[in-house]
Amino acid sequence: MNHRSRDRGLAEIFRHIDARQAPFLATLVELIRQPSVSATGEGIEACADLERRVMADCGLDARLLPSDGKPLVYGERIVDRAAPTLLIYGHYDVQPVDPLDAWVSPPFEPDVRDGRLYARGSADNKGQHLAQLLAIRSWLDVRGELPINVKVLLEGEEEMASPHLASFADRHRDLLAADLAYVSDGPVHESGRTQVVFGARGTLQVELTVRGAAHDFHSGSRGGLVPNAAWRLVDLLSSMRDETGAVTIAGFADAVRPPSDAERQAIAALPLDLDSFLRGAGIDRLPPPDGPDYHERLMFRPTLTIAGLASGYAGTGFKTVIPSVAVAKLDIRLVPDQDPDAMFTLLREHVARHAPGAELIRVGSMRPSRTAIDGPWTAPIVDAITLVEGRAPLLVPSLGGSLPLYVFGEVLGIPSVVVPYGNQDQRNHAPNENLELDRFHRGIRIAAAVFDRLGASASFGGRARKSRPQPPR
Ligand SMILES: [Zn+2]
Repeated sequence: MNHRSRDRGLAEIFRHIDARQAPFLATLVELIRQPSVSATGEGIEACADLERRVMADCGLDARLLPSDGKPLVYGERIVDRAAPTLLIYGHYDVQPVDPLDAWVSPPFEPDVRDGRLYARGSADNKGQHLAQLLAIRSWLDVRGELPINVKVLLEGEEEMASPHLASFADRHRDLLAADLAYVSDGPVHESGRTQVVFGARGTLQVELTVRGAAHDFHSGSRGGLVPNAAWRLVDLLSSMRDETGAVTIAGFADAVRPPSDAERQAIAALPLDLDSFLRGAGIDRLPPPDGPDYHERLMFRPTLTIAGLASGYAGTGFKTVIPSVAVAKLDIRLVPDQDPDAMFTLLREHVARHAPGAELIRVGSMRPSRTAIDGPWTAPIVDAITLVEGRAPLLVPSLGGSLPLYVFGEVLGIPSVVVPYGNQDQRNHAPNENLELDRFHRGIRIAAAVFDRLGASASFGGRARKSRPQPPR
């Protein structure tokens, strides 16, 4: 089918989506009314069951799949084995609602104010993954079939850092096989424009405990006689950086992959108001080390962050004491190809060398991930978003934050992109979480257009694979 008749078909789907705004919103409200707090387990089973029903109503062959933790909801519609397959990922669990008294309307009683739906889970992530399901429903209503194969996977433990997603994916490689993973979560770019994100930094969180004497001592009567744990910790921490701000843990940045030419071009094209960032942060320059600019720091460089320090007495008044224990919490952000296990080993060796006896505990980690920004999936997605919004999206090589995208890239071996539909000020994880209804509806349109463009692309997925020359026998 040529571009023009395809676009006429899409326009018909868009009109259908516009006409169905009220029932689509009613489905979102129904999903949100069902609490699903993974941290406490509240409503998880019931929500998984409801999601399965919504998926089935949207035309997918849907079922619950057990994991080592909470169940996942899986649905698929296989149109043609030779067509490209899109794996849509989302999560049905939500964050706890505390502090409850800071909510203007109760968190599980959706309330529309000023064009926004206020409720826990509105943007993170029920509204965003429902947009994909409703796009599937709309294709089927108008055209009777999808232009690609679609698989939808909804997790129930995303807000707990997805502890069982990798093992689940590993056991279901065939079921989840696809040409691209597509995720809508988080906010649009801070400029308000839609962004296509191709990766995320990883993390490694550790707790470092340094001890001095057997217990705290009077700083006068024993001052100069017993070691001070706080000084030991400060010395150890300062051994991890030089005066220019460069991290001095041996091998810390050895595995860092430099940006590709396409990635450099992409970050150069991103809008940035550095002055307003600096003003908002109350600083007059970026911290050392000098060199990498804003986006390169955020996407292509690891960080070593002291996230918390505790020792001695820091309360009201004063206590003359020599602390016997000092604790630091460190948060390391990792970029490709840094491995959390290898990084932990480097850190342990550094600590053993500089503060023998200090205790290092690994609290948590997530691997970094990166998908090529110039792969065959990019042009169709850009084309789809441009069609819906009249403006091309921003291409963002990586989030500064962390998402379990490595499960797609490394466990399943498929590329992944994140196309958030939610507003910047969605207040996810906080009281008064909200989703702009206009963005919800636009998300449905974007998903519908993405299905179309990926299905029609000559270079993406199943058809491209089929036409690739076979190796000689
Ligand atoms: Zn979240």
